[in-house]
Amino acid sequence: MREEEIAAGLAAVRNRIEVACTSAGRDPAGVTLVVVTKTYPASDVQVLAKLGVTDVGENRDQEAAPKAAEVAALGAQVRWHFVGQLQRNKCRSVVEYADVVHSVDSVRLARALAGAAERHRDRPLDVLVQVSVDGDPARGGAVVGSAVEPDRDVDRVALTIAEAGPLRLAGVMAVAPLHWSAGAAFEKLAEISARMRAAHPEATAVSAGMSGDLEPAITHGATHVRIGSAVLGTRPKLR
Ligand SMILES: *Cc1c(COP(=O)(O)O)cnc(C)c1O
Repeated sequence: MREEEIAAGLAAVRNRIEVACTSAGRDPAGVTLVVVTKTYPASDVQVLAKLGVTDVGENRDQEAAPKAAEVAALGAQVRWHFVGQLQRNKCRSVVEYADVVHSVDSVRLARALAGAAERHRDRPLDVLVQVSVDGDPARGGAVVGSAVEPDRDVDRVALTIAEAGPLRLAGVMAVAPLHWSAGAAFEKLAEISARMRAAHPEATAVSAGMSGDLEPAITHGATHVRIGSAVLGTRPKLR
């Protein structure tokens, strides 16, 4: 039965989080599990909510918008985290259902999101700056000290969010680059987070760690882990 499958995956992941917190000397209450439900149906989100999951993540607006509406219609209450690459023309839709956006990586995107949030919601939207820990501008993520591309400079992106009334700067997010060890990537992210908190003490969230690397993420201070396949099963190949 699907519910038993999900319950087993969830128990295993919750156990991994606890073990990682114990070895890091951290309180598991300081780590929020965001179950990434992309490719899985609204009925799975309903099961997750029943099993005590409060936070779910999605990476594409085309999938997330109808799913969030369906979940609401089923009467389940969850917080929606938008974790994927975000196009400016999707901001209007995303602000309608998202409670947190993890993936703002440019000044232009921050401004577009602020504009949409201003018109389409009555409370501030939590926003994390997605950073590229290896500084490679070819992939997603804002970059530290990017003199070349001011639009992608971490400090400017953070300041734009912090100064936008409809947005609340919540912290940083990263995906470990393929050619880096997860430990090195999340150590670097922790440094970037500390730098940001020096200027913006409220930006305490560190979104790091997926199914394969949640342990090193917790070692290096993750406050949010984004877990898909370890809870819900291996996704069919996308596209
Ligand atoms: C899909 C996705 C995840 C979850 O990945 P798993 O390896 O299935 O745990 C986390 N973060 C982002 C940005 C994703 O797109």
